[in-house]
Amino acid sequence: MADPLQLKVAVVGAGVSGLIAARELQREGHRVIIFEKSDKIGGLWVYDPRTESDPLSHEMVHSSLYFSLRTNLPRALMGFSDFAFSDREYGDPRDFPGHPEVAAYLNDFATRFGLAELVQFNSEVVRVEAVGGRLDEWVVEWRSEGGVNSEEQVFDAVVVCNGHITVPRLAHIPGIEKWPGKQIHSHNYRVPEPFKDQVVVVIGNGASAYDISRDISTVAKEVHISSRDPAVKYSKLPHHPNIWQHSAIYTAEEDGTIEFQDGSSVQASIILHCTGYKYEVPFLKTNGIVTIDDNRVGPLYKHVFPPQLAPRLSFVGLPQKVIIFNMMELQSKWIARVLSGRVCLPSEEEMMADVKEYYQEMTALKRPTHLTHYLLNCEEVSHLFSLLFLFFFLVLNYDLRLSYLKQQQTHLSLHNV
Ligand SMILES: Cc1cc2nc3c(=O)[nH]c(=O)nc-3n(C[C@H](O)[C@H](O)[C@H](O)COP(=O)(O)OP(=O)(O)OC[C@H]3O[C@@H](n4cnc5c(N)ncnc54)[C@H](O)[C@@H]3O)c2cc1C
Repeated sequence: MADPLQLKVAVVGAGVSGLIAARELQREGHRVIIFEKSDKIGGLWVYDPRTESDPLSHEMVHSSLYFSLRTNLPRALMGFSDFAFSDREYGDPRDFPGHPEVAAYLNDFATRFGLAELVQFNSEVVRVEAVGGRLDEWVVEWRSEGGVNSEEQVFDAVVVCNGHITVPRLAHIPGIEKWPGKQIHSHNYRVPEPFKDQVVVVIGNGASAYDISRDISTVAKEVHISSRDPAVKYSKLPHHPNIWQHSAIYTAEEDGTIEFQDGSSVQASIILHCTGYKYEVPFLKTNGIVTIDDNRVGPLYKHVFPPQLAPRLSFVGLPQKVIIFNMMELQSKWIARVLSGRVCLPSEEEMMADVKEYYQEMTALKRPTHLTHYLLNCEEVSHLFSLLFLFFFLVLNYDLRLSYLKQQQTHLSLHNV
C-alpha cells in the first residue's frame, strides 16, 4: 500500500462539525486551516443576545440559541469518543445541561487537541472553487472582518462545515399579508419578556416549538401551538394552564383572527415561526454540480461526498434527526481516511446510482424533498452503521474484524431463516 497522502485541507467553520473534522484530519496527518467568520469557537453554541433588525430573517447573527435552552440530548450522547462530555462538567452537572456547558466543552475539546491554533478567526469564506476545473486543487477566498480586500489560498481539499440552523424557513399562511400582528422566527427568539400578556400562535411541531412555548407561557396570556401533523388534535396541554394545541392554520384575518383547520380560532397578536431553517452554502461555486433545491443539498453520496467532485470536496453535519456529535465524528473519520487514501470510495457512477436510489426511495415513500437530510430511524441506524463499519475496518485489528464478520454472518443467517 502506498504511503498515506497528507494534504493541505481547508475547513469552513469552527462549530461542532468544523472542530471534529479538523481533529480527525489532523490525526490522519493532514495540514488544516479552519476558517471561522466570527471571533469564537463553537458555532451555534456561542449564545448571542442580539437579534436581527427584521425578526423574520437572518442577516448577521449566526446562533439561533435562546437563553433558556438546555440540550435535548443527554450529555452522554453529545461528546466525542475519546473526549467524553459525560466525563466533564463546567458548572452545570445536569444530564441535559444549559447551552453554556456545551460551549465550554467545545472550547475545552479545541484546547486539548490544539485545534484553536488552527483557526483563522474573523475570516468569512466567500468563495470555494476548483482551480481551472481540476478536482485536486481548490481555491478558498476569504474576507477578514472590516477588511476591504479579500485574500485567497489554494488547498488540496475543502471540508464544508458552515452549519444549517441559521437562515429561517417560514410557513406559508393564507391571508398573512393583511393580518395586523407581529411575526418572528425562532432564530430571533431569545427571552420570553417581550411576549408578556400577549396571545401567541407558535407554528411548529419540533423541539424548539415546544421549548419556546413553555418558555413564553410563563409570561404570555395564551399560547396556541399550531402543527400540520394530522395526528395533532385540538386540545389543552395537560399541566399547562395557558397552552393549547391546534391543527395547521387555515387563514389569518384582517381583524387579527387566526383560524385553524380544526375549526378553532383565536385573536392573536404574535405569530412565532418555529418552522426550521434553510441550508445555504453561498460561497460554493461548482458550476451547478452541487445544488440546493428545497433544502436538498445534492447530489451527495451518503450526505457527505458529491460524486463528481469527491473526495476533495465534502460536507460534515448535514443530516438531521440523528445523534449529531457521533455522526459528525464518524463522517469526519471517513473523510480524513478517504483523503489520505487509506479508504476508497466507490466509483463516481456507483455513488451516483446510490444517490438516485435514495431519491427514488424518498419519492416512493412520498417524503417531500425538504426532508432529504432528515434521516428516518432506520436510515439513521444504517447511516451510522455504514460509517461505523468503515471505521471498524480501519482501526481495529484483524482478529476483531474477523469475529465481527462472523457475528454478522450468524445474525444475517438467523435473519434469513
Ligand atoms: C435551538 C437548537 C437546539 C439544539 N439542541 C441540540 C442538542 O441538544 N444537541 C445536539 O446535539 N444538537 C443540538 N442542536 C443542533 C446543533 O445545530 C448542532 O449541535 C451543532 O451546533 C451543529 O454544528 P455545525 O458545526 O454543523 O454548525 P454551527 O454550529 O452552526 O457552526 C458553523 C460555523 O461555521 C461558521 N461559518 C458559517 N459560514 C461561514 C463562512 N462563510 N466562513 C467562515 N465561517 C463560517 C459559523 O460562524 C459557525 O461558527 C440544536 C440546534 C438548535 C438551533
